[in-house]
Amino acid sequence: MDNVEPIVDPNDQVMDIIQDAFPFALTNINHEREDDVPTPIDSAEFEQYKTLLKNANQELYPGCENFSVLTAIVELMYGKIKYRMSNMCFNYFLGVFKRMLPTDNCLPKDHTYAQKVLNGLGLGYKKIHACKNNCMLFYKEHEMLDICPICNESRFKMTSQNRTTKIP
Ligand SMILES: [Zn+2]
Repeated sequence: MDNVEPIVDPNDQVMDIIQDAFPFALTNINHEREDDVPTPIDSAEFEQYKTLLKNANQELYPGCENFSVLTAIVELMYGKIKYRMSNMCFNYFLGVFKRMLPTDNCLPKDHTYAQKVLNGLGLGYKKIHACKNNCMLFYKEHEMLDICPICNESRFKMTSQNRTTKIP
């Protein structure tokens, strides 16, 4: 049986990452942690962050009650990681969902754009590496690992210059 389940529930990881990155912005997602103390950051950074957050927190389309842009991205990215979906597959379904939604929706058009939104909020794979087979994230207890504990794939890839670089 090749289909090994990830050690940690990816949903927990996604939620942990969000909690860590913006502990003061999550009252809609997780009410249990609303007594957490906000992390102080400098004011220019905070203004930029507020703009990004405002965009991310807008409704997915006018009148949408169930999803903000951010929660839509997080749920879709969760599925992508959980089912080890390729970027191509992800883009295909994202394109279909986008056409199903009202034309003035704010769903990202592709994985790159979804990643940009998360990166802007400090949630991207640039800071948290994922196994290139989408098994798991190099995060928390896996942060220092160089090899994916599930598929044994290296965290680093050889470039054409024959040196190792971290996969973004
Ligand atoms: Zn792996």
